[in-house]
Amino acid sequence: MDTASQQPKRIVIVGGVAGGASAAARARRLDEQASITLFERGRDISFANCGLPYHIGGAIPDRQRLLVQTAAGMHQRYRIDVRVRHEVVRIDRENRRVVARNLDSGEEVVAPYDALILSPGAEPVRPPIPGLEGEGVFTLRSLADMDAIKAVVDAGEAGSALVIGGGYIGLEMAEALRQRDLAVTLVELAPQVFGAADLEMVAPIHQQLRLHGVDLRVGTSVTAVRRDNGQLRVQLSTGEAVDVGLVIVAIGVRPEVKLAREAQLEIGPTGGIATDEHMCTSDPNIYAVGDAAEVSHLVSGQNVLIPLAGPANRQGRIAADNVFGRPSVYRHSQGTAICKVFDLAIGMTGLSERQCKALGRPCEKVYVHPASHAGYYPGAHPMSLKLLFDPDNGKVLGAQAVGADGVDKRIDVLAVAIRAGLTVRDLRDLELAYAPPYGSAKDPVNYAGFVASNVLDGDVAIAHADQAISPRTDQMLLDVRTPAEVEAGTIPGALNIPVDALRDRLAELPRDRELLVFCQVGLRGYLACRTLQQHGFRCRNLSGGYKTYQAVSGMLPPEATEPKEVHYDTGADPDVDRIDPGAGGSGCGTGGCCGGQKKDAQAPKAKAADTGQVMIAREIDARALQCPGPIMRLKTAMEELPERSAVAILAGDPGFPADVEAWCRNTGHELLEVRPAGPACRAVIRKRLPQQHPQAAPAANGQPKGKTMVVFSGDFDKAMASFVIANGAAAMGSPVTMFFTFWGLNVLRKDVAPPVRKNLIERMFGHMMPRGADRLALSKMHMGGMGLRMIKGIMRKKNVASLPELIASAQAAGVRLVACSMSMDLMGIQQEELIDGVETAGVAAYLDAADHAAVNLFI
Ligand code: FAD
Repeated sequence: MDTASQQPKRIVIVGGVAGGASAAARARRLDEQASITLFERGRDISFANCGLPYHIGGAIPDRQRLLVQTAAGMHQRYRIDVRVRHEVVRIDRENRRVVARNLDSGEEVVAPYDALILSPGAEPVRPPIPGLEGEGVFTLRSLADMDAIKAVVDAGEAGSALVIGGGYIGLEMAEALRQRDLAVTLVELAPQVFGAADLEMVAPIHQQLRLHGVDLRVGTSVTAVRRDNGQLRVQLSTGEAVDVGLVIVAIGVRPEVKLAREAQLEIGPTGGIATDEHMCTSDPNIYAVGDAAEVSHLVSGQNVLIPLAGPANRQGRIAADNVFGRPSVYRHSQGTAICKVFDLAIGMTGLSERQCKALGRPCEKVYVHPASHAGYYPGAHPMSLKLLFDPDNGKVLGAQAVGADGVDKRIDVLAVAIRAGLTVRDLRDLELAYAPPYGSAKDPVNYAGFVASNVLDGDVAIAHADQAISPRTDQMLLDVRTPAEVEAGTIPGALNIPVDALRDRLAELPRDRELLVFCQVGLRGYLACRTLQQHGFRCRNLSGGYKTYQAVSGMLPPEATEPKEVHYDTGADPDVDRIDPGAGGSGCGTGGCCGGQKKDAQAPKAKAADTGQVMIAREIDARALQCPGPIMRLKTAMEELPERSAVAILAGDPGFPADVEAWCRNTGHELLEVRPAGPACRAVIRKRLPQQHPQAAPAANGQPKGKTMVVFSGDFDKAMASFVIANGAAAMGSPVTMFFTFWGLNVLRKDVAPPVRKNLIERMFGHMMPRGADRLALSKMHMGGMGLRMIKGIMRKKNVASLPELIASAQAAGVRLVACSMSMDLMGIQQEELIDGVETAGVAAYLDAADHAAVNLFI
């Protein structure tokens, strides 16, 4: 109250959790005399909604701990009139009062106010999917929701669950249910989980989910839910059906604005209640805070809904300040968020690259992969950090990080940097707490600042993974890693010259092409670029190196499978690696970590193990080793051991499962198992001579025999050439994969259009493009179709098979015809429109085939 002589101020608050309870407590602290009434529809106030998944999963066993404050406690400490089970059903703005209904008695009460604070939150979205309403299908918002889910899980009969939505609630629920030993399918419509972050940054999260036995289906939606004998049959957009015991719907939330809308308060463009910087709505006596309120974004300035607990709590406090005449200002939201997914954390702040692009805002990015703390101190884990900045002035626009340790700290520092308007040059100068167990003398934040400043200062030009995936003809890929690292995978078409040999081998490099240089994480690439530039070469360093390329190109390990039992001989000779502290804290090969899991009982995640006794000749603990250290240690061990000996290796790098799988494929060794082991992963590999491994299957000269082709063109002559080569290669016993992308897809279209549903643009596209092999045009001398007729005539005369015949014979000879799923989506082509026997796959399938090919053609 402003003065003791005035009537006590009457504050009414709607919603008693994050924003509402904060506002109530702050109001009392500011005014001892005020009358404060808080209406809450549910049974509880001030409960920890963020903790709900962890009680279901068992990490917070005591339910009471979720009750941060009770109605009685709130009254005792703050003398607040808390009315639970009371829903405010109307706001009478004219007479400044609300009407609330007692949900138990049905009675209505009228509460007058001088100031009204709305904090009704956001409700889970339930899409109109047939069968989604009803038994066995849950959302998670309140303690009651949590209790209902937990009761089903505790009963022990569910066995399996399907989570719809890969946002943070979906991810936390997937983990919680795995922790309760349920088989979990996670279905996400987008191509990625944790959609606020950029795709490549969530690649380790996808891998982590699969490693922990979650059946992750991205790019998939649920089309219907049916009930049969207590089981739920969930129909997916892929045509598959999954039988589960319960379904969790976690596809996002929608602000609760019904009350505000009915009271004709202004609703903003995002659908939230419009507020000003004081959290005041279009009515000067009404404030709105939390998930229901629309605010502005710190970096973009756009109106946004950011439904997070931190903003809700701060806004509640600010609204109360303003009610009592303190003109506190809410200085925008910036979307700082973090999510735990088993043993990894993913966090972000500010804008993502996708958001920058959508806003048309210029941004540059760098990737670094440093360790969470000094590598020589036990327990260091690598993290991947992406920094987005303004290419003109270097201002930090956003950051994302993923890793097993230290992600929260770096995201928080970068969140402060964004709030303070710092540039990447300022990041270099930050003095951050350091001792070996906690950080590095050059902290990952400093390090990202160095790398970004080098780009701004023009010390090195950078390239990004998309450029490395499809380099221009005047560019060449140069891999400056060691041959051992290359064995674990490289970018197709790259020349390998290790950085230390570069000065002696400059003559092998073309001067008329730009070199796209890469190493594992970016440092050696940078060193190589500095050398090359000073010798007159044009070059760019691939930011984040091969590690980022892997994430971008989607080279994730295949999904985890049920382990078969493996018996280990425990009398192994331990061979513990130590990290090299002399790397000066800089990036290339910093860190080494991987996800693990808490309970062995939950580990249906191992990768194809074979049965029977496996003698482990050596145990390698490479957890502290920087990437690619684990692979290097493995290689050395394999060289020293006799054939058929097995090596078990513990590694901490989240990318290790993918790396070891690729390394085994390329070297012929046998990967028996990959499974989480604490905050690391453990792989067991049996030494094999290359020719004994069917996948490696090299030719007699030791080179791989495969041939791969990217068929980009839809020209008749080019398609003919590609199938002539494919048939020839197949006849010579080579496995051939043809990857059809963009116009090349027309070669595979059926000549008669099957009935498929398309939108207008897709139909137009379909009509404009040639339908099938018989309707392609010549690339040159088309002459209104004359050229094509002439060439077909000559082909007939000379007994050359027609293009459809060549396609059929290639298929008969086992040539893989793969249609690029991304191009199909872009061009509106559906599987039914393609000739039979064509696979649909992404670029990873092609890259995997290219890894086993000696020849790779782009037509
Ligand atoms: P809420 O906290 O949802 O409170 C709104 C309350 O208003 C509800 O209890 C509702 O019953 C009541 N209400 C609505 N309408 C009326 C009415 N007409 N009359 C009376 N009462 C009404 N955020 C993070 O930052 N980090 C996390 O890790 C995190 N984890 C989460 C996990 C889960 C499972 C959930 C559900 C949310 C999580 N959040 C997290 C989000 C965070 O909890 C919300 O952003 C925050 O609680 C929003 O506060 P609020 O006050 O706006 O709404």
